[in-house]
Amino acid sequence: MNADEFRKRGHETVERIAKYYEDLAASGRGPAADGVPDIKTLSTVEPGYLSKLLPTEAPETPEAWDAIQRDIEEKIMPGITHWQHPNFFAFFPSNSSFPGILGEMYSAMFNVIGYVVGQVGLLDTKTDPKNSFNWQTSPACTELETIVLDWLVKAMGLDDGFLSSGLGGGVIQGSASDAICVSLIAARQKMLDSKRAEGMDEESVLALGSKLIAYGSTQTHSSTRKAAMIANVRFRALDVDPVNLGMQGDTVAEAIRADLEKGLIPFYVTATIGTTSSGATDDVPGIAAAASAHNVWLNIDAAWAGSASVCPEYKHTLKGTELADSYSFNLHKWLLTNFDCSPLWVRNRKYLTNALSVTPVYLRNAASDSGVVMDYRDWQLPLGRRFRALKIWFVLRTYGLEGLREHIRKGVAQTERFTEYLRTRPDLYKIETGPNWSLVTFSIVPPAGASISANDLTNAVYDAINADGEIFLTHTILNGVDVIRFATGGVQTADEHIDYAKTVVERVTGA
Ligand code: PLP
Repeated sequence: MNADEFRKRGHETVERIAKYYEDLAASGRGPAADGVPDIKTLSTVEPGYLSKLLPTEAPETPEAWDAIQRDIEEKIMPGITHWQHPNFFAFFPSNSSFPGILGEMYSAMFNVIGYVVGQVGLLDTKTDPKNSFNWQTSPACTELETIVLDWLVKAMGLDDGFLSSGLGGGVIQGSASDAICVSLIAARQKMLDSKRAEGMDEESVLALGSKLIAYGSTQTHSSTRKAAMIANVRFRALDVDPVNLGMQGDTVAEAIRADLEKGLIPFYVTATIGTTSSGATDDVPGIAAAASAHNVWLNIDAAWAGSASVCPEYKHTLKGTELADSYSFNLHKWLLTNFDCSPLWVRNRKYLTNALSVTPVYLRNAASDSGVVMDYRDWQLPLGRRFRALKIWFVLRTYGLEGLREHIRKGVAQTERFTEYLRTRPDLYKIETGPNWSLVTFSIVPPAGASISANDLTNAVYDAINADGEIFLTHTILNGVDVIRFATGGVQTADEHIDYAKTVVERVTGA
């Protein structure tokens, strides 16, 4: 494909993208009039559908773009569950926006892969001073990342300790799971380095690995457990308060005490602001106190709810984060920025780079160590990195913080609108949690005298709601109770879609 062909196909593709979003916005409002698009939210293809449609070998000779484009419509589109659909109320939203898409396009245009220099050793940072900065693999990629992540610290009301001007700073990871894994590895390094500093010999330090223990709660996202598996350390899921479903400081303090008594070494705890199942918030100040008393790294996972702290009315949810060692959230969930985009901030970047730098100390350059430039390759698992800061920059500039606040408030108001409906029928629906931000969970109340249990009925209703793919919700279990989750925050969702969701739920429950 030459530049002229790219220009032609590129225009067509942008046109197709714009039309896709227009069609989505027009869909999902009930039976559609003739000519009005009506895309369903859920794909209903059978597993393995695509292998029946595609050849088993890559083409030997070039194919025409028209054929490829046709296959997008005919073969790929049917297998898409439309996360950008206005009736997508499942999991958490995965926001996409036009500025976010354009940011991705510019990122693809530059296609820079930062930070290869240090690793492959093409340039010796000691002997080749003019190339002494890994940062030089693309200065704008690095510097824009530092700038927009500092902007976000201020916009969200995180404390100054996470700014790059001090000892801390932020780095964009691909996902919250990456951010959590990296922070846990940094915490492990910090704990082991403290033993080295006490004079412990290297063999004994390495042997300590089997004693390290990380904590989360029964409601903590599985990514903390996974990070502990990857780091080959123990993980304990602590109980949460049965009413608010948040992990309490006392529980963490008691776990640390008991584990120390057993000879284990507590080193890491994840506290969540906005849990995946119910949107609960852990007792961050209490957990911070328990953690800091024993040099335990406090990581805050605000993957979903963190976006809301751009609004003044949600800044109180950050209480206690000023004591955290790391904090991450996903702009790609609820802040209008296309996947993938998970900033991680650390209070002291040296723990990350101590854990992840493969550059021997004698080859580290003064500029990197002083923080004049950030060698982000030492803040993450991979070496190369995408120019993700562009899409954040585009989103922040085109919406402004006011626009972001409006978007968050729209999601919160839409969940409130749906919850208001649930409240009108206490005979049918029991609100189990929330609304917390834009997530409410509810169960179905069996009719008096019915032999079916609330759990079975809730599951039957949940299956029936999702069956025809018009709206998409997810299910979870809280304290042994089966519940249906309703999460808004989609860019395309209008109040009419919430009203249509009510209609679908009414139809299924016979309300
Ligand atoms: N933490 C929380 C609270 C989440 O809700 C999720 C996903 O929904 C994650 C972590 C994992 O996010 P990611 O898919 O970005 O790894």
